[in-house]
Amino acid sequence: MLPAELSDLDRKRVWHPYAPMPGTSAPLIVESASGVRLRLAEPVEGRRELVDGMSSWWAAIHGYRHPVLDEAARAQLARMSHVMFGGLTHGSAVRLCDRLAEITPAGLEHVFLCDSGSVSVEVAIKMCLQYWLSAGRPGKRKLLTWRGGYHGDTFMAMSVCDPDGGMHRAWDGVLPRQVFADLPPAGFDAGVDPGYAAHLDALIEAHAGELAAVIVEPVAQGAGGMRFHHPGYLRVLRSACSQRGVLLIFDEIATGFGRTGALFAADHAGVSPDVMCLGKALAGGYLSLAATLCTAEVASGISGGDLPVLAHGPTFMGNPLACAIANAAIDVLLGGYPGGWQAEIARIEAGLRTGLGPAADLPGVADVRVLGAVGVLQLDHQVDIAAATRAAAREGVWLRPFRDLIYTMPPYVTGDEDLSRICAGVQAAALACAQGPQRGKPQVS
Ligand SMILES: *Cc1c(COP(=O)(O)O)cnc(C)c1O
Repeated sequence: MLPAELSDLDRKRVWHPYAPMPGTSAPLIVESASGVRLRLAEPVEGRRELVDGMSSWWAAIHGYRHPVLDEAARAQLARMSHVMFGGLTHGSAVRLCDRLAEITPAGLEHVFLCDSGSVSVEVAIKMCLQYWLSAGRPGKRKLLTWRGGYHGDTFMAMSVCDPDGGMHRAWDGVLPRQVFADLPPAGFDAGVDPGYAAHLDALIEAHAGELAAVIVEPVAQGAGGMRFHHPGYLRVLRSACSQRGVLLIFDEIATGFGRTGALFAADHAGVSPDVMCLGKALAGGYLSLAATLCTAEVASGISGGDLPVLAHGPTFMGNPLACAIANAAIDVLLGGYPGGWQAEIARIEAGLRTGLGPAADLPGVADVRVLGAVGVLQLDHQVDIAAATRAAAREGVWLRPFRDLIYTMPPYVTGDEDLSRICAGVQAAALACAQGPQRGKPQVS
């Protein structure tokens, strides 16, 4: 099919993320991808290849067509790509779950595999509600979170997304009403604000009787606004939750597997949650796979109740192909980088600081922030997505800004030259929409 025919059919038939139907903007057609490069079916802004600054929504941490991940996929295909998980099990899933329990914060012993991040959040919440049901406390069914979060697009997950960014008003009466704390004060290095810590503690105390759990993205909030906060707040949450009998969920779907400079963001604080969600980079960006981990206490609480099972079981639970690739992705992360993954993240962090720092002086740029392999420009107006994307493409870079944010989360295999190129792309994107801000018009990812 010619690119033009593909585009027409795409517009006519295919619904894209956060888009109307039929689509109003034409997505670029990707023919193939390798390393950190996307190869397009036809040139855009004179470029047939773009350096990927997005890791395909933060998942492809080792880049595309990685030989170790490709080989793991082929080897698993030769045995079986899928088999049901009810009544059956297989080596790829067992090894993966054992591995995850080993590398995640202490105390997380058991693993529930599922097929996407949003579903892993649903499972985490179901675990916590059912834990309290089993404990004879059916009134504990609310959740507390802080503003600025994003936990997925299914309804229960939506209920704990930022109430302003999460379109809660459109879903009034549909979404359960949860308890929201203020935005965590900005800055990974900013120290703990005692006033905010007291606010968290007081809110948890006030609602303890109705709270099943507190759910947050530790250290870095992603799609809710790309904000960073001090790890000390995780210790505040841990101690308030333990004291008041409330479970603690960390959603590490975006932060897990090294992205913020620690293997898991919880490690920055030395804190373990009761329940933890993983996804995105789990299968190296090859396939959709997610996991919900919990402590022995949560598992035994559920299993000792009147309904002694966790009533959840996705059709493609424990998909062998995804699990085999996830095992390979973890092998590469923990053993495949000559100087260790920490060195790559530190290198990328330094490159982003150097490359994005000067953007603070660009017109319309309100803030520049970097943590680990995450680099963010926040504008003082909404991004013109089309203009920003084109400007980045002109530099040979793929970016997908949203709201007032132009950001990059590059694959860990991005070399220094490509990293500079990405930073140039981010700056060009900011400049391109400095002139024509589209104020007040809602735009989403
Ligand atoms: C992306 C994301 C999700 C949702 O994952 P999906 O796989 O898109 O359903 C949930 N929580 C966080 C923190 C995320 O970044």
